[in-house]
Amino acid sequence: MQELDKKDCELLNAARAAIIKNYDGEKFMHTVGAAVRCADGKIFTGVNVYSVHGACAEQVALGAAITNGERDFAAVVAVRGSDGEEILPPCGNCRQMLCDYAQDCMVILGTAQGPRKVPARELLPFAYTVE
Ligand SMILES: [Zn+2]
Repeated sequence: MQELDKKDCELLNAARAAIIKNYDGEKFMHTVGAAVRCADGKIFTGVNVYSVHGACAEQVALGAAITNGERDFAAVVAVRGSDGEEILPPCGNCRQMLCDYAQDCMVILGTAQGPRKVPARELLPFAYTVE
């Protein structure tokens, strides 16, 4: 696990801004914000989209980046709550998605020692692959 650098802190702030702007405290349809930093430094954000099989905030952020032509991802983070203070680890489906798209993408996690980052591949040993 690595400590965060300045760019990671900016990414964390972008994820927090996304959920602070969109938090739905009435129906709780949008409670998680995420941000992904691309290899070229651009940041894309997203919030979760609720439905029975809704999309996680990480999926929305990655989808926004891909929609804009990005294919190389450096780091991702998700946060929960009206203030975005809680750093969320990616769910199982998102771990698979990150392994499919960006095994080396750093994932920011909340730990007892504070925020840290690890490569996506370390979060899903023996990941499914189509090859
Ligand atoms: Zn997820």
